[in-house]
Amino acid sequence: MVGKKVIITGVPGVGKTTVVNEALKKLKQEGIEYQAINFGTFMFDVAKTENIVQDRDQMRTMDRTVQKRLQQHAAQAIAKISGNVLIDTHASVKTLKGYLPGLPEWVLREIMPDLIVLVETDDDQILIRRLSDETRSRDKEGSKVIGEHQQFNRAIAASYAMLTGCTIKIVTNADFLLDRAADDMAAVLR
Ligand code: AMP
Ligand code: MG
Repeated sequence: MVGKKVIITGVPGVGKTTVVNEALKKLKQEGIEYQAINFGTFMFDVAKTENIVQDRDQMRTMDRTVQKRLQQHAAQAIAKISGNVLIDTHASVKTLKGYLPGLPEWVLREIMPDLIVLVETDDDQILIRRLSDETRSRDKEGSKVIGEHQQFNRAIAASYAMLTGCTIKIVTNADFLLDRAADDMAAVLR
């Protein structure tokens, strides 16, 4: 049986990884398995070996040609994984030179997702989550700017659907309602 390829996106700090982990726990109880992988980790493993950066949060400041090279490399490696795969990544990455598409045409052609999930919540909730996350070097930006990024991600996700025919699901990860977000995500992964 061919597996499902699902892409999970959302601005930094929205809680993608948390929602994914909760949703996968629920599905496991029903005997549905997904291999969860992180696109950024595939890129970072190469960036580390080449001594380009020491921290995964420095990658969005690398030269954009380098970002694109590592992105293509990651896409090719991920395309080889079979079965149900859940890819934690970004619809767009905020670089020093503007928004970089997380899934440009050549990445989509490698992965050919069935579904793209956009994890979203209120701009000011994201701002507070970023301020309280000491494990990461999150961008310090105001809620208006976070709002622009979320809006841009919806727009670029629509273009990804046009290129692949994949469906787009928006999951809201509101404060105190993680369980609801996990249920909404699990529903589209069944
Ligand atoms: P994350 O752990 O999901 O926040 O990802 C860490 C970093 O990996 C991001 O800040 C980006 O620099 C990079 N990254 C992740 N996914 C992509 C992608 N699809 N295209 C380009 N860069 C990416
Ligand atoms: Mg994450």
